Amino acid sequence: MTKLNIVLFGPPGAGKGTQSEKLIERYQLVHLSTGDIFRANIKGETELGKLAKSYMDRGALVPDEVTIKMLESEVNKHPEANGFIFDGFPRTGAQALALDAFLESHETGIAAMLALEVPEEELRARLKNRALTSGRADDANPDVIQNRINVYNNETAPVAEYYRAQGKYQGVVGVGTIQEISERLFDAIDQHA
Ligand code: ADP
Repeated sequence: MTKLNIVLFGPPGAGKGTQSEKLIERYQLVHLSTGDIFRANIKGETELGKLAKSYMDRGALVPDEVTIKMLESEVNKHPEANGFIFDGFPRTGAQALALDAFLESHETGIAAMLALEVPEEELRARLKNRALTSGRADDANPDVIQNRINVYNNETAPVAEYYRAQGKYQGVVGVGTIQEISERLFDAIDQHA
């Protein structure tokens, strides 16, 4: 039985975390957010956390080698999962290649990349708003936000092309109420389930 593995994609502030919660509830999938895992490591003051913090505070990407290894070990913790929602991963071409090779070695693969599409002005407004409550250093500083948007445009957006070439890319309008956006994602997933 193949698993339902979904890449939830989109720029910082697109709503990946919020929508992941709706998706795991409906499809009983395991949610793996690389950002959340790094933040948990920072809180726990692990070696990985210390390393990740030095990149995250600047809005830069944590190096591929570290990120890929961490993600693979998280997947391996859930052998019985119905599937995974990958949130914030892959963020580079190297991560996308590594994920495909890794899933293939487990005789599974990515069913679809669902990409939340949100205009840049709306993203900035959401991140500014989130900074008031998230306690995230990378939300509080406009220069860091700009850096994250630049990194997304330069390094992460091309990952969409990788999935498009495999016929797996699906854009979803990421503006509207949380529920409207969830319904769009459910419709998109139900085509693959
Ligand atoms: P956002 O999507 O709002 O930027 P995330 O929680 O997904 O928030 O990511 C926060 C930070 O964690 C990123 O700016 C980056 O430093 C680091 N990070 C998360 N995922 C990855 C990844 N796949 N590769 C490298 N760094 C990552």
